[in-house]
Amino acid sequence: MRSVLMALTVLGCLASFVSAADDVKPLWKAAAAKAKITPTEPMFMAGYASRTKPSEGVALDLYAKALVLEDALGQQQAIITLDLIGVPRSLRERLEKQVADKFQLKPEALFINASHTHCGPELRVAKYEESGIESDRTAQAQDYTAKLEHAIVDMIASCRKRLEPARVSYSHARCGFAMNRRLPTPMGYQNSPYPDGPVDHDVPVLRVDSPDGKTLHAILFGYACHNTTLGFQQFCGDYAGFAQQALEDAHPGAVALFVLGCGGDQNPYPRGQLEQCQQHGRALANAVETALLPTPKVLTGPLSRAIDVAVLQFAPPASREELQKQTESKNRFEASHAKRLLKQLDQDGKIPLEYPAITQVIRFGSDLTLIAMSGEVVADYSLRLKRELPGENVWVAGYSNDVFGYVPSQRVLKEGGYEAGGAMTYTSFPGPFAEDVEERLMSQIHGLLKTTKPSK
Ligand SMILES: [Zn+2]
Repeated sequence: MRSVLMALTVLGCLASFVSAADDVKPLWKAAAAKAKITPTEPMFMAGYASRTKPSEGVALDLYAKALVLEDALGQQQAIITLDLIGVPRSLRERLEKQVADKFQLKPEALFINASHTHCGPELRVAKYEESGIESDRTAQAQDYTAKLEHAIVDMIASCRKRLEPARVSYSHARCGFAMNRRLPTPMGYQNSPYPDGPVDHDVPVLRVDSPDGKTLHAILFGYACHNTTLGFQQFCGDYAGFAQQALEDAHPGAVALFVLGCGGDQNPYPRGQLEQCQQHGRALANAVETALLPTPKVLTGPLSRAIDVAVLQFAPPASREELQKQTESKNRFEASHAKRLLKQLDQDGKIPLEYPAITQVIRFGSDLTLIAMSGEVVADYSLRLKRELPGENVWVAGYSNDVFGYVPSQRVLKEGGYEAGGAMTYTSFPGPFAEDVEERLMSQIHGLLKTTKPSK
């Protein structure tokens, strides 16, 4: 295949900040970068199992972006955002090793978030192997991911070389196009707009300015909503891509980076048309502009980070006999799921009963706490964390560091439906998580919050 274009643009950030108070606050340094990661040839696309052919053109270019921050203690934080379906665990692991070897950065200093666009390239195809997918498709995805890995490392290296004193601050606003998509019906929970379901309309915004506050150099912003206005055959960053583009157009020289929140059970409505996607992007960019208006909370640092895994248990899997029966299912996804599990059973003698989910906490002093969860996390988690941390600026990101499947809350798990376990059919997991999934995650996160708590 032809090489995938990954042009690297580095945009430094300037500024030193001294507070109005007599005491000199810790200084930040920062730099941002972006790399175009639109495949240069047609590729199979990720997100919808019903697609049967490769991409056909480009509606909006895809980007990987980086923001590197350094606090007054010299601690660095690399923030990576991707206009892609997810973050493969293997990519995260390889990047962890590279940033440790090359830059002496610890795992907690690396945060990677994917926008979950369903109009990006396929990154892993192992799950299709048993169905005889051509090896070209696997090789293409691996080649793309390898180039992506290099582009990310290059961006971090460039940012580290170009770090300049900066002012870093936080504000937030709201945006309304996300709606809960779990509609209760007599037939169970259906994927349909549900205006009375839980939502998190928060739009957190971290801004990086010049010392005098006159020039905006980077905008890191979030929203909790599936990035799935579209499902067509063209590459496109969906609403998150259009929002980033609108912000970069409005602030020439600035890099806008999107962080997906706990949008596992949220959809953008209305959806289906490119024009609607552009409108959602515009709406989100407007919310970010709104967040930029009030005097922001200036972040003084220092950084305090922790990362670990919460071991999640699955509900007991089906027996070999039940799986054999399921291989006859008329639903081809259910049948191939059963075949995958039987293959595991034959090869390894067992089906994995747990999954180590990455959780990460990044505190910016006592001014802002970013909690990053892996998987497709539902809104209940961000709502609960904000409730349990009153008085703090809390930013909860889902789809971070590893996107392995849905992470339901206990409520969603009990209610059933797609996010509760139905979607597991498309994975190699045995089935739904066990009922304590929420408590395991919350107790892990609270542990990380404790170890990173500022001493004052
Ligand atoms: Zn999803």
